[in-house]
Amino acid sequence: MANREIIIVGGGMVGALSALLLAKDGDTLHLIEKYSVQTPLENAPFDLRVSAFSAQSKLLLETAGVWQDIPLDRLCAYQGLHTWEKGSQKLIFSSEDIAAEQLGFIVENRWIQAVLWQALKQLPHVHIYDNKQVLNISQHTQQVHVTLDNQQKIQGELLLACDGANSAVRNYLHIPTTSWDYRQHCLLINITTDSPQQTVTWQEFRETGPCAFLPLAGNNASLVWYHSPQKIKYLQSLTNQQLKQVILAEFPSLDFTFEVHSKGSFPLTRRHAKHYYQDRVVLLGDAAHTINPLAGQGVNLGFKDVQCLVELLTQSSDLPIAEILKRYQCQRRPANLLMQTGMDVFYKVSKSESSLIRFARKSFLGLAQQSGEIKNRVMRYAMGIN
Ligand SMILES: Cc1cc2nc3c(=O)[nH]c(=O)nc-3n(C[C@H](O)[C@H](O)[C@H](O)COP(=O)(O)OP(=O)(O)OC[C@H]3O[C@@H](n4cnc5c(N)ncnc54)[C@H](O)[C@@H]3O)c2cc1C
Repeated sequence: MANREIIIVGGGMVGALSALLLAKDGDTLHLIEKYSVQTPLENAPFDLRVSAFSAQSKLLLETAGVWQDIPLDRLCAYQGLHTWEKGSQKLIFSSEDIAAEQLGFIVENRWIQAVLWQALKQLPHVHIYDNKQVLNISQHTQQVHVTLDNQQKIQGELLLACDGANSAVRNYLHIPTTSWDYRQHCLLINITTDSPQQTVTWQEFRETGPCAFLPLAGNNASLVWYHSPQKIKYLQSLTNQQLKQVILAEFPSLDFTFEVHSKGSFPLTRRHAKHYYQDRVVLLGDAAHTINPLAGQGVNLGFKDVQCLVELLTQSSDLPIAEILKRYQCQRRPANLLMQTGMDVFYKVSKSESSLIRFARKSFLGLAQQSGEIKNRVMRYAMGIN
């Protein structure tokens, strides 16, 4: 694919990683982003949007040459993952059991985006159009043409739509999706703790939805509280001091003292594009699929899309674009659907009030904890190192 002109719409984590990997292969990139992307101040408070990155995602960021640019004091490695149903036995995953240094890393989304952008800005054959949106897309036999909102025109052989869950490109091309709301929202709460950095992330399942703890670098952490939209609206309306009191009363107990310093709520929607490409336009990341965030897989799946497409474009460059995009869809759509469906089953089972399902759930967690090699395989799969 080297020496081709490629347009990317959306410079989030997925779009920026795609741009960098393709640019490193010698392609000319046109990256269109709605906002202006700035590098955060190193001592800025932690942002609410954080993600757990698998070993495979870390490897991809290393291949792109940016992993080492993430400041160490914004990076949290975790070695343990504990999950349980309120009042029942814990299922404990530990990096020691599979002789790994860690299970994954938790980093603010904006830092991943920032280090990718810093690298992109160094490359002469990457043209950045920030604070711009796409007004018009037209597809031709050999090319795709884009007009921006300042009337500038760009041409390329391929357009990657990485413009997130509400993808304007996907909507513009009328690519249909299946979607539904989970009828649950989640509140992200950043806290500062009086104890040193934690190394275990955990999730307690309740009939009202999961409650999770994600350690962040230093004395920082993120709490994730899933509940009905009404309850989340109420929690969001509280002052930080009032919210702290509700956390102490209702959230699973935290074994340290803490202060709340920011909060924000998100609706949960599952969405899947019915097809991943149309002529010379291809969807990646949240533009193609969104998933329940309870297992922290969203951007990891997006990065797998990037890896798959970049490999096809670089290793099968003699194939016609239509064949490359068909192979991309055949590899990624079923894999993403499987993960979405797995999460949905897990989510439904975790919320069910049926006494039979409650019994099965508790027995399953107990059996899973004893399952040895099966548990280790699940761990490796989630880390992307199976
Ligand atoms: C509460 C919550 C917790 C999560 N936790 C995790 C986790 O722990 N682990 C994990 O792997 N995933 C997690 N996810 C999912 C993860 O955040 C997303 O999968 C990821 O951000 C998707 O990246 P993206 O680049 O595809 O899309 P986005 O991050 O949405 O980026 C899209 C980019 O396109 C730009 N854009 C939008 N429209 C246009 C336009 N018209 N023109 C030009 N540019 C445009 C935007 O400004 C943005 O920069 C979580 C999600 C939520 C909601």
